[in-house]
Amino acid sequence: MAKPKLNVVIPVYNEIEIVDQLHTRVMAACCECDIDFRIIYVDDGSRDGTADWIHQNAVSPFPMTPAVPTAGSNNGAQSQSNVTLIRLSKNFGQPAAILAGIQATDGDCTIVMDGDLQDPPELIPELVEAWQRGSQVVIAKRRSRQESFLRGLAFKTFHKTFRYLSDSPITPNTGTFCLLDRVAVDAISELPESHRFFPGLRAWVGFTQSVILYDRCERAGGEPKQNFVRLLRYALDAIFGFSFKPLRILTGAGMLICALSFTLACWFIFKRMIGWETASVGFTTLTCAVFGLGGFQLIGMGVLGEYIGRIYDEVKARPQFIVAQKHASDDPQTSRRPENRIPEQPLRKAG
Ligand code: UDP
Ligand code: MG
Repeated sequence: MAKPKLNVVIPVYNEIEIVDQLHTRVMAACCECDIDFRIIYVDDGSRDGTADWIHQNAVSPFPMTPAVPTAGSNNGAQSQSNVTLIRLSKNFGQPAAILAGIQATDGDCTIVMDGDLQDPPELIPELVEAWQRGSQVVIAKRRSRQESFLRGLAFKTFHKTFRYLSDSPITPNTGTFCLLDRVAVDAISELPESHRFFPGLRAWVGFTQSVILYDRCERAGGEPKQNFVRLLRYALDAIFGFSFKPLRILTGAGMLICALSFTLACWFIFKRMIGWETASVGFTTLTCAVFGLGGFQLIGMGVLGEYIGRIYDEVKARPQFIVAQKHASDDPQTSRRPENRIPEQPLRKAG
C-alpha cells in the first residue's frame, strides 16, 4: 500500500553558512517517519551560493526517487524521498517564498519551517504523528525562546496588539512552523491576497487545529534576514490585513475630540453670557491644540493610506513571486542539465 507523503517547505535566503547542517538534520528527521517525503527548498534570491549548494548537494546527487530505509518501516516497503529546489527570480520576502513552496507541494501533508534551524527539524516526527492522529493543522508553539531582550519584547508586544485588534486571533507564541493537511494547504494557497501574514491565514482557514510545544533555539549561524523594518512591515500586514479596528479606533477618537471641543465651546459661551470672564486662550494652548490635532489627522490619513495602499496592491494583482528555475531530484530533465543553472550574483555589501 502506498505510504502517505510529506512535503517540507523551507524558504532560504543567504543561508550558506548553515544549509549543510539544515539539509542533514531535515533528511535525518524525515527518515525517522515511516512516510514518503519531498523537501522543497525555495531560494528567495540568495546571492551567497545557497541555491548552488542545494542544487549540487541535495538535488543532483540523488538517483531518481531513491529508496530510503526508514527506522519505523515495518511493512517491508521503503520510503521514497526527493528534493526540489525552486529558485525565485529575486528576493520577494519570506511570505512569498512560503507561498511558492506550498503551491509546489504534492503530498498529503506539508510542514512549513524556517531554514535557520530556529525551528528544530527533530520535531518533524512529532508533527507527523499529531497529523496521523487526526489533526489537520498542527501548530508548533514556542515554550521558550532564545532571543535578545529587545526582539523578545517586540514579539510579545506584537502578539498582544494583534490579539486585541484582530478578528481572527492567532495562537500566542507561534510563528510559521507547523504542519498542514492537504485541505489546509489548498485553502491557504488559493487565498488571493498579496500581503500575506502566514500565521493569520492559517488561523483564518480553520480546520481541526492542535498545538505541540517546543523550545525555540537560536539561529544556527549567519545573520537574521528579517531586520527590524521588515518585521515592522510584516506586523503592519498582520494588523491591517486582519482588522478594521484601527479605522474604528480613529472614528472613536474623532468623536471623542469633537465632543470635548463642543463641551469646551459651550463652557466658553456660558462664561461669556454670564459676564464671568471673556474667553482668553493663550498662545501656547492654541499652538499645542493646532499641532496636536494636525498630528492626529496625519496619523489618521496614514492609517487610511495603509488600507488604500493594500487595496491598490490587490487591484494590480501582480504575481507574488516569479520562479526563475525549478529543479527536482526526480526530474532528470530539469535537475542535472548545467545550462539550467543560473549564476548567482555576488553578495554586495550595503553602503
Ligand atoms: N527568508 C527568506 N526571505 C527573506 C528573508 C528570510 O526566505 O527575504 C528565510 C530565511 O532564510 C529563513 C526564514 O526565512 O529560513 C526566516 O528568516 P529569519 O530567520 O531571518 O527570520 P526571523 O528569525 O528573524 O523571523
Ligand atoms: Mg529566524
